[in-house]
Amino acid sequence: MSKPIVAVVGRPNVGKSTLFNKLAGERISIVQDRPGVTRDRIYADVEWLDRKFTLIDTGGMEPGAEDIILKQILQQAEIAIETADVILFVCDIKQGVADDDIQVANMLRRTKKPVVLAVNKVDDMRRENMDVYEFYSLAIGEPIPISAGQMLGLGDLLDAVISEFPPEEAEEEEEEAIKVAIIGKPNVGKSSLINNILGEERLIVSNIPGTTRDAIDSPVEKDGQKFIFIDTAGMRRKSKIKEDIERFSIIRAVAAVERCDVAILVIDANEGITDQDTKIAGIAHERGKAAIIAVNKWDSIEKDDKTMNKFLKDIGNELAYMPYAPRVFISAKTGQRVNKMLETIKTVHENHALRISTGLLNDVLIEAMAMQQPPSDKGKQLRIYYVTQVSVKPPTFVLFVNDRQLLHFSYRRYIENQFREAFGFVGTPIHFIVRERNEKN
Ligand code: GDP
Ligand code: GDP
Repeated sequence: MSKPIVAVVGRPNVGKSTLFNKLAGERISIVQDRPGVTRDRIYADVEWLDRKFTLIDTGGMEPGAEDIILKQILQQAEIAIETADVILFVCDIKQGVADDDIQVANMLRRTKKPVVLAVNKVDDMRRENMDVYEFYSLAIGEPIPISAGQMLGLGDLLDAVISEFPPEEAEEEEEEAIKVAIIGKPNVGKSSLINNILGEERLIVSNIPGTTRDAIDSPVEKDGQKFIFIDTAGMRRKSKIKEDIERFSIIRAVAAVERCDVAILVIDANEGITDQDTKIAGIAHERGKAAIIAVNKWDSIEKDDKTMNKFLKDIGNELAYMPYAPRVFISAKTGQRVNKMLETIKTVHENHALRISTGLLNDVLIEAMAMQQPPSDKGKQLRIYYVTQVSVKPPTFVLFVNDRQLLHFSYRRYIENQFREAFGFVGTPIHFIVRERNEKN
């Protein structure tokens, strides 16, 4: 099931980043033990009362004249409208209702997306409460007083946010279709790839507007398998500022990846793999999605017998944290190997939901430990008593050990590799949860 997206918007200096960091803070340190991913502080996982959501900071403001700033605020509000399920609009009580707030409110009022209005910097609830009423004049609902700095009112704010989420069951539509997000930098050929798939199959059902978001999803059926391609092309944005373009393409990728089962990272063969590609790939990896790396425009480069190997080596270096993702070399223009890619999507999707019996897992674990002794430290040796799979998408295993400190990254990776060798898991990350034996299950 896809997690809802909440986007923070508002004028500069109202406290958006402060709020983002307070809401995100704890979660971030928990997720960080996955290797190889530099976390961009544009998005974060938040959990409140058992509801998980992705928080996006649309911010990032270039200093400039007043009209330029307003333009940026409105542009960011537009991104929020396109990508988010709930928009969190932040104002500042110390400044009162500003002209720019009114402009943003006018824009937000025209969308059907729910808006939650937070009035920040209410550091003294009793003294400043009356001033909050002024924000009713924005006519986008009840203003919720908070102090991001002092962490006041955040519970009420989160209550209001999650009350706007679509009901959880309602999202389970189209279970049998594989949802595929095609992600990557601008101009690598994402739209061309979707067009090629749609054109070639000639089995387009229709372009139905997405139910939870305004993005257009394209359903395709091939050999009895349904696919839904999540199209983010409509969110293309023109901007002259390089940071803006990068930020938008990351926000877009987060929104698409959140809803997908399988993410295809498209790389331009002419450019090779770049930092921005690595960042975007990290989104799929972090979210635990099945992934494929597609080197596109394969038709357009000069090749000899070493070209493909060089690409494979570069990808291996730059995306060292996702060795599981199959690499495909395609041309969206000529259709080269695009058909085969659909097969690969099916395979990685199956692996993403693969369940292995506890008996088999423990057989492989015991053999792995016999082949390579678990490490020891200061005379104490790691013991792994037992392993069991607790969930799928991605496959997640609990390892019961005597001392968690002794299970170093390298040995965990060794176990992971043994599992991969035994069971495949091509195209999917696998996660481990480590428990000490005397802990509660
Ligand atoms: P952004 O530009 O909207 O992201 O705003 P920032 O988060 O950078 O905050 C702008 C300024 O407001 C900083 O100096 C913060 O310390 C301050 N600030 C943020 N939240 C609060 C708050 O709840 N109370 C007070 N008094 N100041 C705050
Ligand atoms: P997007 O921004 O990632 O959606 O990229 P587009 O699909 O709009 O493609 C950007 C440019 O690359 C267009 O001029 C396409 O014609 C071109 N292009 C896309 N795929 C291929 C390909 O496989 N081979 C070649 N030679 N050009 C391609």
